[in-house]
Amino acid sequence: MSTHDVIVVGAGLAGLSAARDLVAAGADVLVLEARARAGGRVEQTSTEDGRVVQLGGEVVGASHTSYRSLVDELGLTLGPSFTDIPGESTWLLADGRHLGDDMPWLSSADRSLYDAIERRFSTLASSVDPDDPWAHPEAVALDRLTVADWLRSEGATPQVVRAMELRAMGLADASVERRSLLADLRKEATAGALGFYDYDAWESMKVLEGSATVALRMAEGLGHRIRYSSPVASIDVASGGAGQGGVKVTLQSGERCRGGDVICALPAGPLRDLRISGVSAEYLASVQRREHAPTAKLVTVYESSFWEGNGQNGTGYFERTLLGGTWVQNTGILSALVPVDRLGPYRALPAAAREEVLLAELGAAYGPEGARPTSTFVRDWHSDIWTQGYITAWRPGELTAVGPLHGTHEPPLWVVGSDQWVCGYMEGAVRTGRAAARELIAR
Ligand SMILES: Cc1cc2nc3c(=O)[nH]c(=O)nc-3n(C[C@H](O)[C@H](O)[C@H](O)COP(=O)(O)OP(=O)(O)OC[C@H]3O[C@@H](n4cnc5c(N)ncnc54)[C@H](O)[C@@H]3O)c2cc1C
Repeated sequence: MSTHDVIVVGAGLAGLSAARDLVAAGADVLVLEARARAGGRVEQTSTEDGRVVQLGGEVVGASHTSYRSLVDELGLTLGPSFTDIPGESTWLLADGRHLGDDMPWLSSADRSLYDAIERRFSTLASSVDPDDPWAHPEAVALDRLTVADWLRSEGATPQVVRAMELRAMGLADASVERRSLLADLRKEATAGALGFYDYDAWESMKVLEGSATVALRMAEGLGHRIRYSSPVASIDVASGGAGQGGVKVTLQSGERCRGGDVICALPAGPLRDLRISGVSAEYLASVQRREHAPTAKLVTVYESSFWEGNGQNGTGYFERTLLGGTWVQNTGILSALVPVDRLGPYRALPAAAREEVLLAELGAAYGPEGARPTSTFVRDWHSDIWTQGYITAWRPGELTAVGPLHGTHEPPLWVVGSDQWVCGYMEGAVRTGRAAARELIAR
């Protein structure tokens, strides 16, 4: 049985960034990773003609400060994302296809109402402390309300609610009819409470070398300290004590290791599958209550960005389809996601028919060429046992149910990862991973 200062479970961005900082501080660290590769929800491959394709997380924004500092330290480059591409967005609606910058069904009165409600949302978001939303005097009531209910209570017309719903689908977020208002307020409070969802704050940049390169570069630096194909089955904190090398980690193979501390850096689903003993029942209940919205990702590769010839910028919002919308990942490459509310019908399709159905939707949005990519990648993250999801999701009441233990630790067990931050994202992974390493080093 090997013994280490710290055992990190999971080699995604959270586990890797924690391990990297601990190793730099002189700790003896072992990283145990279930898959045969590093990166978790960031993963890249390439096409026959050498273009790098992202199958998982891609873009970040101005508010993602921890991720951006890490990218800088690793010597990688941030550049503009799809939000900078000129041209018109594509609205694939119930009544047909429209091209334009704004939502075609919004009258100028609806547009003014939308803007006015957005300002009230910003004001309300400013009253929420993202680190302690539970302390808000109206926390329970705001958590019970759905975003759509609140919009209607503020006088939103069906057209305004439709606008918010379509934006949610375009982002592969959960429906506004099933999202906690408090969770949305908390999320936007972290980005400066600028409005409903500010693309500059959340989506305006990408790592030009490929977003998974961030993980691969950290993994390269950690070298032999990462053990691949080593899924962990249980963590027993009670078998030792903090600082005594006494936390017992048991792999699915039956092998055991001990760590003075254990950093658990898993997505919500796989974390629930782990047997954890020796922490308080209250803490475990909070950790295991976390929810995770599943998705499937489609990436289509074309010889060129042909849509530009039609005045389209590749950003699409789809209303009655399985895909929520599209964006340009790279020259000639479109990304698209199946949002959680549409995943049921997607999974109901025979597996062999899914790709054809999704490509037909691209054909409807971008013309026959859209349905005929030179290569197609479908990544079913929802059924991947080491992920079981995509991003953090908060249904009404869930923020209260998970409670203020969200994002906290019970040393020597540290629970990090994007699902332990406000709302997921690569920022959440890096932020929680590095923060735990910092606290552990300070001890
Ligand atoms: C399709 C898709 C698109 C996304 N788009 C964006 C985006 O554009 N921008 C953005 O910021 N975020 C995006 N995200 C979210 C972002 O990628 C994730 O939030 C982030 O990468 C999660 O990092 P993590 O380290 O917390 O978890 P993960 O990356 O999930 O890492 C956890 C690791 O733990 C391993 N593991 C699981 N179980 C075990 C076990 N029992 N034992 C050992 N190891 C185990 C897994 O294999 C994995 O390597 C996207 C995610 C997906 C799936």
